[in-house]
Amino acid sequence: MKEKYVGYVLNSIDYKDSDSLVSVLCEDGVVCLRARGVKKPTSKNASSVMNYAYSEFEVNKSLKNGFLTLSEGRLIKYPSFINNNLEYIGVINLVSEGLEIINDKGDSFKCFVDCLARMQEGYDSKYILIAFLNYFLRKQGCELNSDECVSCGGKERIVKFSFEDGGYLCRHCCSLGSDEVNYLHNMRVLSKVNCDNINKVNIDFNDTYLYIKGVFSIIESKIGVYFKSKNFLLRVIREEK
Ligand SMILES: [Zn+2]
Repeated sequence: MKEKYVGYVLNSIDYKDSDSLVSVLCEDGVVCLRARGVKKPTSKNASSVMNYAYSEFEVNKSLKNGFLTLSEGRLIKYPSFINNNLEYIGVINLVSEGLEIINDKGDSFKCFVDCLARMQEGYDSKYILIAFLNYFLRKQGCELNSDECVSCGGKERIVKFSFEDGGYLCRHCCSLGSDEVNYLHNMRVLSKVNCDNINKVNIDFNDTYLYIKGVFSIIESKIGVYFKSKNFLLRVIREEK
């Protein structure tokens, strides 16, 4: 049975001698297809399965097990603006990893498109990363709360921003000393970053970096996800400072 998919290549894994298993993010979710012979230099489908390519795929669907095998791929567009930017490559790599984990319909596709659009517009990779990490936290039910004390719901006398506890803590609920007002403000701004308000964010490097590290730590400890591209990305961000 023939089917057609259009979407972004999130990832491809070598399989046997010259095949790849390709994850494609379509508007209604992620599909995995086997692309035979795309590692051969003569393959006519090779360009359509490059990472982050937006392509149209004609596939054969097995009636027996539902497996999809690529018959013809056509590259529609490739986001070449990421090519000379290590930070963008690191971020889109991590975004792809995360969206494969979330694997939901509709929303993920828009998230990927938005992240690429902000890169094309030249925005700071750290804020694009934070927009994605905030999205990831929300999707996993671990959104950080900087509107009220996460323990009692009070809005007065906020003294701490705790990643471990999930956001703001008031004086009554916090026994760990207090953070500086400026830090509390910056954490609030960063916890609200998304792909639509990136243009308004301007927080100093140290707090931005602390926020990124803090979010990674809760993604690991609370959600149990370890991003493969995390260390590479953190190194690039520090070096490009
Ligand atoms: Zn409280």
